[in-house]
Amino acid sequence: MPTVDLNTPVQYLKGVGPARAKVLNEIGIVTVEDLLYYFPRRHLDRTTITPIRSLVRDTTATVIGKVEVCGERKTRSRKLYQAVISDGTGLLNLVWFNGIPWVKRSLQVGDRVAVHGKIEFFNGFQIVHPEYDLLNTNDDPLSTGRIIPLYPLTSELKKVGLDNRRFRRMVYEVHKQVDEIPELFPEWVLKAHHLVPRATALRDIHFAEQESNLRKAIRRLKFDEHFFLQLLMALRKEALSRAGTKPLDKVGPYVKLIYDQLEFELTAAQKRVLKEIRNDMAKPVVMNRLLQGDVGSGKTIVALLAAAIAIGNGVQVAVMAPTEILAHQHYASLKRYTDAAEITCAILVGNTKTRERESILKALREGRIDLIVGTHALIQKDVKFRELGLVIVDEQHRFGVVQRGDLIAKGLNPHFLAMTATPIPRTLAITYHGDMDLSIIDELPRDRKPVITKKVTPERLPKVYQFIKDEVQKGRQCMIVYPLVEETEKSDLAAAVEAHQQLAEQVFPEFVVGLIHGRMKKEEKDAIMDAYSRNEIQILVATTVIEVGIDIPNATVMLIEHAERFGLTQLHQLRGRVGRGSEKSYCILVQRHYSENSNKRLTIMERTNDGFEISDEDLKMRGPGEFFGIKQHGFLKYKIADLVTDGPLIRDARQAAFDLVARDPHLRKPEHGLLRQRFLKEYQHMLELVNIG
Ligand code: ADP
Ligand code: MG
Repeated sequence: MPTVDLNTPVQYLKGVGPARAKVLNEIGIVTVEDLLYYFPRRHLDRTTITPIRSLVRDTTATVIGKVEVCGERKTRSRKLYQAVISDGTGLLNLVWFNGIPWVKRSLQVGDRVAVHGKIEFFNGFQIVHPEYDLLNTNDDPLSTGRIIPLYPLTSELKKVGLDNRRFRRMVYEVHKQVDEIPELFPEWVLKAHHLVPRATALRDIHFAEQESNLRKAIRRLKFDEHFFLQLLMALRKEALSRAGTKPLDKVGPYVKLIYDQLEFELTAAQKRVLKEIRNDMAKPVVMNRLLQGDVGSGKTIVALLAAAIAIGNGVQVAVMAPTEILAHQHYASLKRYTDAAEITCAILVGNTKTRERESILKALREGRIDLIVGTHALIQKDVKFRELGLVIVDEQHRFGVVQRGDLIAKGLNPHFLAMTATPIPRTLAITYHGDMDLSIIDELPRDRKPVITKKVTPERLPKVYQFIKDEVQKGRQCMIVYPLVEETEKSDLAAAVEAHQQLAEQVFPEFVVGLIHGRMKKEEKDAIMDAYSRNEIQILVATTVIEVGIDIPNATVMLIEHAERFGLTQLHQLRGRVGRGSEKSYCILVQRHYSENSNKRLTIMERTNDGFEISDEDLKMRGPGEFFGIKQHGFLKYKIADLVTDGPLIRDARQAAFDLVARDPHLRKPEHGLLRQRFLKEYQHMLELVNIG
């Protein structure tokens, strides 16, 4: 018999054949290696199986039992299929309303099955539409102590006869035939991080003899997945840090000039992160730093002071914002300080007029502009600098990781400071932004009070409107936000326009009620924001264009319509538009449609103002791919690793990756050949980011 190794195509394996091979290939299983890396979705063992007697309603449970009776039934309104299983401790009802023919064919009296689902109570315990797998008659983890893997199987696989029993058999056979599973890591990595060999892990993930071995296998395989992403980060960081650049080590006159104008003292956290930034910029390698701080924590002033240092060293600074409105707002707030410090500051956005644009571009080339604010239009091809020394990107998560490459591709090597108001747990930050150093502002200015948050149903609106009137009478201002998923969605826009008219004419006739939305011309938007910031408009109706960054300390009430349509992070951002002054502020969430999930979000908003807690919850509710909006980057191809719960392991994997790159910066050593091969396979599509030749 020819030898079987990891690269052997599955079609040549005993018991596979062309029909099965075709279906296996379709789900990405081409080689033996792919098959061994096709991990069980769940394991049955003593710790994961619940005896029927011990079931608790409204929990999710896995039960093993024998089918006692099964058959179709008709109620008055519909057909259903029912099976009753027993495990010697009790009876459990299984109910299907859909897919009845399939269940009917696959379940027979006397079958042993593992079922999984939410336990309900309805004339006894039941599961509606359980996940179920047929087992062999002697499969009984409870009495034998054996562990049974359950695989994620498609209906196509089942059609070619690969149900869980046969799939397991196949993996088992393959295992017996494979000669050798070579180790990826050098010995020191395994030792330092207490990892079992890959060969052991790939056996035990499928056929562990004991629960402790299964746990070790899972840990090792999770480690590998985290490791390769961290390796990407480590290689990228290495490549960036090799890029030498001009050290910006003078303090210069501008920092003090700006400092003297501040009407407040910096918080301790602001001072600390500023020092971290200053130390970085003083080095002859590029800074690559992420500044995290909750909304209102005062990132802008830190950015400005960092810019002042750079300018004091004779280089130019670019500040990029995710939207034009925010760019204008930044420009306005920076300009106040830069004028007094005699720093030349300009703004360049997509619709800057041609003539003006030309003259700004010329001034940039000649070095007559120190500080330029804009959107990502700033990194377009025709924008050239005399000497760009620092790039600051606000709301980094909006740009994503990849665009950072654009600047470097321009042959520029500026220091880089990204800012984000989406505070994420440190282990996640080092994953998603793993190639950056992290600074955290974990403290709000002292006079800040938490925004009082309340969800209300529409019937309460008259009371709420009265409350807003009282606030405005006291001299405060209010924002009313409508959801607008896409700026092209006319119907939502129409809703905002209509609501504005009604609010202006009927609810608040005694006040000036403004309207701002994304489809207005820039001049219109600017005029409205100007008027609002001077309190010539007291109540501003807006679509979510005001989501990020806007800073009006006199605004104390934020009313969010259809609050159930917003995500948690977005609600937190919106709420951050109030509570920026010293007055008490309020956020009112109008809930027009009830769903369990959205109600949970709104309740979290009522409970806390803490950005870290909120983004944690958001992450749990949406999962990392959605949360970061990075599914499409192929960043998270995790099969078994879990960004949210693997914290300490991520740190281990990161350590190993950075240690490895320190020893072998281009992954060229022969003993890292396999590692390199696997890395290239996993991250082929991201290689433009690194430099391993
Ligand atoms: P964000 O971190 O959300 O970008 P900003 O930089 O816009 O926050 O700051 C929010 C508000 O807090 C601004 O009005 C700013 O002037 C003010 N601010 C910043 N730092 C302090 C401080 N140390 N003490 C008091 N107010 C501050
Ligand atoms: Mg900001």
